[in-house]
Amino acid sequence: MSKRDYYEVLGVSKSASADEIKKAYRKMALKYHPDKNPGDKAAEESFKEAAEAYEVLSDANKKANYDQYGHAGMGGAGGFGGGGGFGGGMNMEDIFSQFGDIFGGHFGGGGGAQRQQVRGTNLRVRIKLNLEEMVNGTQKTIKVKKLKLAPGATSKTCRTCNGTGMQVKVMNTMFGQMQTQTHCATCQGFGKVADKIPAGANAQGLIKVEEEVTINIPAGAREGIQLSVRGKGNDAPFGGNPGDLLVVVEEEVDPKIKREGDNLHQELYISFAEAALGTQKEIPTVGGKVKIKVDAGTQSGKILRLSGKGLPSIDSYGKGDMFVHINVWTPQHLSPEQKEFFEKQLKNGEMVAEPSGKEKTFFDKVRDLFN
Ligand SMILES: [Zn+2]
Repeated sequence: MSKRDYYEVLGVSKSASADEIKKAYRKMALKYHPDKNPGDKAAEESFKEAAEAYEVLSDANKKANYDQYGHAGMGGAGGFGGGGGFGGGMNMEDIFSQFGDIFGGHFGGGGGAQRQQVRGTNLRVRIKLNLEEMVNGTQKTIKVKKLKLAPGATSKTCRTCNGTGMQVKVMNTMFGQMQTQTHCATCQGFGKVADKIPAGANAQGLIKVEEEVTINIPAGAREGIQLSVRGKGNDAPFGGNPGDLLVVVEEEVDPKIKREGDNLHQELYISFAEAALGTQKEIPTVGGKVKIKVDAGTQSGKILRLSGKGLPSIDSYGKGDMFVHINVWTPQHLSPEQKEFFEKQLKNGEMVAEPSGKEKTFFDKVRDLFN
């Protein structure tokens, strides 16, 4: 049986990058995974073939050797035995152990289990912050429902595993017998089981309580980032370290200020008179209120740029800007005197629109925003 070319096996070209090779293998491994193709010999062969190809092509030295000498360069120590599968080379556990870095730990299976750390589970909460809190940092006290070890709960050593938390199992697989270690089914790997459980507590001696937790939010937080408060998660059954409280930051939608990357935008409405005569206005920013000057004769649609009044940039030392979009409010309810005034202007041909042709169009303004 002649061996297929490794590049062909993964369906990539010889010039494929490490990332492309990894992606191609991931696809193959998912397609031919034994769990997905129980009893399918052809899929099993393809699965092994892909793993072997990846093992070589993902290793710079082996790849260089293979590129130069082909399969002949793969012999000797560490090579793959032909025909009979993996020989002294890869076994199923090797293949599955590759999966940690291929699938980012999402894909388990096959490998030996680890002794369970006696640790409580993590709790996750969401916390809403407004723009100012995100920029400047803040402290929040929230109520968290969590599991705590009930007073009076006691434990004893698990008899099934003698406190090791592990059970050894021999499994018959398509590649022969495999010894695997799994968590003890009796104690879920904790090595201890409940002895005395107070009323109201669960089988692990835990009760649900509500606790106040104060969280320090550092300056520069952003939507979606996760803060971890150590030891504020659920208690571990029968002692051990509690889990962590994971706090996911959510941005509170500001009714006035819209965020666009590091830049902020807000609308400012001014009266007809203010636009004509000019005025000063106080507007909110994340650093507090600031005064801005609106020139006499300001047109509706003008955009004022307040440099550095946006959010601190995440990946540089810079800051975004605040853009103030001016809207001139046309009066809607005129008193008889006002009506008379405007009618007079109209009749005399005064207060007419007289664009100079240099006014910025909508598209000019959009372009300016990005320059
Ligand atoms: Zn046990």
